[in-house]
Amino acid sequence: MSKNYVIGFPRIGEKRELKKVLESFWSGEVDFNEVEYVANELKKRHWSYQKRAKVNFISSNDFSYYDNMLDTTILLGAIPKRFENLEDEELYFAMARGSKDCVAMEMTKWFNTNYHYIVPEISKNTTFKLNSKKVIEEYKQSKDLAINTKINLVGPITFLGLSKSIDNSDTYFHINSVVEEYCKLLEEISSFGSDVVVQFDEPLFVKDLDSKILSLIKPVYDKLSLVSTNIKIVVATYFEHSNEATKILVNTNIWALALDFVYGSKNFEVLEDIKASNKVLIAGVVDGRNVWKSDISKKVELLEKIAKVVNKENILVSTSCSLLHVPFTLEYELSLDKDIKSWLSFAKEKLVELKLISKVFFEEELTLEDKSLLKENEQSNRSRKESTKIHNKKIQNKINSLEILERKDIFEDRIKAQREYFKYEDLATTTIGSFPQTPEIRKNRRDFKASTISKDEYELNIKEYINDCISFQESIGLDVLVHGEPERNDMVEYFGELLEGFAFTKNAWVQSYGSRCVKPPLIFGDVSRENPMTVEWIKYAQSKTNKIVKGMLTGPVTILNWSFVRDDKPRNEVAKQIALAIANEVDDLQNAGIKMIQVDEAAFKEGYPLRKENIKEYENWAVENFKLSVSKAKIDTQIHTHMCYSQFNDIIKTIEAMDADVISIETARSGNELLKIFKEVGYKQEVGPGVYDIHSPRIPSVEEMVKQIEALLEVLPKEQLWINPDCGLKTRKWPEVKQSLENMVKAVNIVRENK
Ligand code: GLN
Ligand code: ZN
Repeated sequence: MSKNYVIGFPRIGEKRELKKVLESFWSGEVDFNEVEYVANELKKRHWSYQKRAKVNFISSNDFSYYDNMLDTTILLGAIPKRFENLEDEELYFAMARGSKDCVAMEMTKWFNTNYHYIVPEISKNTTFKLNSKKVIEEYKQSKDLAINTKINLVGPITFLGLSKSIDNSDTYFHINSVVEEYCKLLEEISSFGSDVVVQFDEPLFVKDLDSKILSLIKPVYDKLSLVSTNIKIVVATYFEHSNEATKILVNTNIWALALDFVYGSKNFEVLEDIKASNKVLIAGVVDGRNVWKSDISKKVELLEKIAKVVNKENILVSTSCSLLHVPFTLEYELSLDKDIKSWLSFAKEKLVELKLISKVFFEEELTLEDKSLLKENEQSNRSRKESTKIHNKKIQNKINSLEILERKDIFEDRIKAQREYFKYEDLATTTIGSFPQTPEIRKNRRDFKASTISKDEYELNIKEYINDCISFQESIGLDVLVHGEPERNDMVEYFGELLEGFAFTKNAWVQSYGSRCVKPPLIFGDVSRENPMTVEWIKYAQSKTNKIVKGMLTGPVTILNWSFVRDDKPRNEVAKQIALAIANEVDDLQNAGIKMIQVDEAAFKEGYPLRKENIKEYENWAVENFKLSVSKAKIDTQIHTHMCYSQFNDIIKTIEAMDADVISIETARSGNELLKIFKEVGYKQEVGPGVYDIHSPRIPSVEEMVKQIEALLEVLPKEQLWINPDCGLKTRKWPEVKQSLENMVKAVNIVRENK
C-alpha cells in the first residue's frame, strides 16, 4: 500500500475566506460566531480535499485564526502580563494585533520564508498552564468526519528557541516546565485511542545549534515518547538539513522523523543512522515552497535513492514542509498563459502529485486516470524544458559575454566627482522614494488596468500627482527630490510586469501574516528588459524642478527574493539576468540626465541561508549581482541603495562590499546604536540613517529630530551623513507626511546652523 503524508495545509482559504471574515470581524461587521463558522467550513473542506487525494496522514491543528506560534503561546498559557484581563478571542487578537490598552506582541519572519509568526515573550517569571481546547476540538472535528488526523504541534525546543526574553534571562530555563505541559497534553490525547500520531515541528533544528540546545533534544523527546504507548511521535524539520539533531533523535523513542529532501539534500548523509534505528522516515520530496510541477519520475528516483539505504516499508512520501507557503490552487487562474499554467502546481495540485509519486514508488496498481495524469506530467515537464518562452538564447549569450561587471572607479574618486557635480550640502535631505498611495492614485491604476480610462487620462493623473509631489518637496526645502512612485502598486510587481520572463496570477495568494497575503510574481523564464521602465516618469519629474531628482529602481536580489523563482536554473543565474536588465535601466536613466539613482535592496537580508556553511556563497553572488546592476554608472552618477531593516552587525562587510555611494537604512527606533558598527569597521561610503519611524502615524517634533541628528553626528561626521526617514512613505497619509518632512528639514537646518 502506498503511504503518504502532508506536513500541513494552507488555511486562509482558496478565496481568502478566512481573511475576509477576520477583517469583517475586526471592523465590527460580523460577530465571532461567523468567524468560527467560516473557520469550521474551511477546515472541513481542506480535510476533504486531502482525503479525496488519498493522503494517509492529514493534519489537524494546522489551522489557525492568526498564527500557529501564537496558538502555541495560548496552548501553553504563556500569556504576557499586559493581557491579563482579557480572555478568549479578545485576548487572542489583542496579542496578535494590539488593543486599546495593550501593544501587540512582536512579529517576525518564520525562518527564511515570508510567513510571519507572533514572537512569544518569556521572562524568568513566566508560568505555564496547559489550555488544550483548540487542539482537542480540532482533532474531534476531524474525527466526526471520519478522518483520523495527526496532530500538529510546535515543538518545545523550537518554541522556546524562537521566544524573546524580556528580561535577558535564558528562555530555555523553562524547558522542563514547557515539556511538563506538553506531557499533560499527550496524556489527554492518549485517551483518544491507540496510534494517534503527533507531529512536533522543530524547524529550529536546521540551524547551526550550539551544544547546549542539542543537549536538550534527547531528554525532551525521551520524556515525550514515554507518556503513552498510544501515541506515535513524529519530529518534523524543514527548509534545510537537520543532521546534528537527527543523529540524536534516532536514539530516542520517537516513531518517525520528517526530513526535507528538497532544501536539505544533506539529509542524505544520515540515512544510515535512520536505517540502523529502524525508525520511520517521512521523506519530504514534493516542494512545499515553490510552485513548479514536480517531475514525478525524478521524485521517484530520489525516493529510490533513499530506499537504497532505508527500508522501503519504513518510508512515507511527503511534502518538504507545510503547503502553507504555496498558493492554494490553479483552478481560478483562467487568464494565465496555458503553457505556463501547465508547468505549475499549487497546494491542491501538489496533493495529486504526492498520490502519484507514492503510488509509483510503492508499485501500487495504477488506474487509467493515474496513467493519464502521469503522462500529462511527463509532457508538461518536457514542454517546459524545451519551451521557447523560457529559453532566450540572446539573453544567455549576453550574460556569457558580459564585459563590465562592476564600476571601474573607486569610491574615493567617484564621490569627489559626484560632490563636484551635484554640490549638495552635508546632511543632505531626501526621502526613500514613495509618497502616500492615495485612494485616487490606486483607482487610477485600477481603472487603467480594467481599460475604463484611456492611457492619456491615466498618464495625466500620474503627472498631476508628480507635479504636486515635486512642488511640495520644493516648498519645504528638501535637497534631493523623488517622483513619489504613483505608477507603482508594488516595488517588485511593477518591474516584473515590464520585464520579460515574469508571469502574474489572479489568485495565487500566500499568507504572509494574520489575514495578510502576498501574491508574488512568478519568474518562469529568461529575464530581459525590452524597453526602459522608469525613464519617462523620472524625466518628467526632473523637468518640473531645478533641484536634483533621484531615480528609483528595485535591485536584482530583492526582485528575486520576493518572487517565486524558476527551479531549473540556479538562483544566482536568474539574479544575474535581472541585474543586467537593471544595469540597462541605470544607463538609460543617466543618459537621460538622471544622475542620482537609488537601487533598493529591501530584501537583501531575507535571502540569507539558514546554515552558516552557505552564507559566503550567497553573499558573494548577491553582492556581485548588485554590483552588476549598477556597473554602467559613470563616475559622477551617484548610486544610492536602501535597506529597510536595522541589524547590520553581522553583514556590515558585505554591505560595504556592495559599494553603493550612499545607503539609507532604518535606525529611528534605536537612536545612534545601529550606526556604531559603520564607524567600527571604518565604513567609507555615505550613510542616510532614518531619523523618524514611518510605521506609525505619529508626527515627530523638530526638537526630537534635532536630538536624533546630533546623536548620529556623535558617531559619523557630517560629510558622511544624509538625513531621511526610515523607509518609503506609501502607507502614510499626506497630512502626516507633510508635517513630518517639514519638521525634518527644519531640524537639519537648526543642526547645520549650530555646526
Ligand atoms: N523605494 C521604496 C519606497 O519608498 C522602498 C520600499 C522599501 O524599502 N520597502 O516605497
Ligand atoms: Zn525600506
